[in-house]
Amino acid sequence: MTCVYRSVPALALAILAIAPSGHAQQSKAQPPKSVRLYVFDCGSLNIPDTSPYQLKPEELSTTYMSVACFLVAHPKGTMIWDAGAVPDSAFKPEGGPATLRYATSAKPLTAQMAEIGYAPADITYLSLSHFHWDHVGNSNVFAGATWLVRKLERDIMFGDPPSPRTEPANYSALKDSKTKIVTKNEYDVFGDGTVVLKSAPGHSPDHQVLFLKLAKTGPVVLSGDLYHYPEERKLNRVPTTEFNAQQTIASRATIEAFLKKTGAQLWIQHDFKANAQLKKAPEFYD
Ligand SMILES: [Zn+2]
Repeated sequence: MTCVYRSVPALALAILAIAPSGHAQQSKAQPPKSVRLYVFDCGSLNIPDTSPYQLKPEELSTTYMSVACFLVAHPKGTMIWDAGAVPDSAFKPEGGPATLRYATSAKPLTAQMAEIGYAPADITYLSLSHFHWDHVGNSNVFAGATWLVRKLERDIMFGDPPSPRTEPANYSALKDSKTKIVTKNEYDVFGDGTVVLKSAPGHSPDHQVLFLKLAKTGPVVLSGDLYHYPEERKLNRVPTTEFNAQQTIASRATIEAFLKKTGAQLWIQHDFKANAQLKKAPEFYD
């Protein structure tokens, strides 16, 4: 009996392992020949009050914000950019959406990664645009990666008392992660200019954005929270809740000039409608 009983899971695994792509047990991803950007759906924010953004609901096309998580797959390694709001640990085994504060997410990040053949152990680097709760949700999952972080962000994350704008329990494991403190304004992650962390402080003390040079898509900047609503950019509004509004204004000017110079697209990560139009994993941008 024991023998038969034990053989069933083995057989099931064998069948899953040869299942065609698209099934849960996807084979392990191989390094791509050129940089790829995968966009994951990490849920949405039902903003309870838009007044901190200096925008009235009637000035906005929607009051909802998207939450996006990104996987950069480079020939030399991988990087997660922003880890969502709701941690995978909040999902119940019976399924259904999970919530944290005013965030809702329909599907765990690690499940979305598994569908394209990536496990947390396959991630080389973790980098967060900033420390706020809606960007750090699954940080603990990537504690085995090398954390690329700017000093003031790390300081505030492990400050005492913790900031009410974050969820320390969701990134506590990063304290012991292999950590690279990023000091340069521009930090070239893989050394070939295709994946570059760019300092853009103001929203938080050491907020950063991500520049990507994609062969077919062209250059792209992932905004972090340089803007939240696209109307902030159009109407030139700065939230009242910025760490330093003058720094935000300066960072926005610097990044806008960079966009002009490079011809890069700006993807505003919280832009609900723009995010809905993006291809999601298993599709990718390259
Ligand atoms: Zn945010």
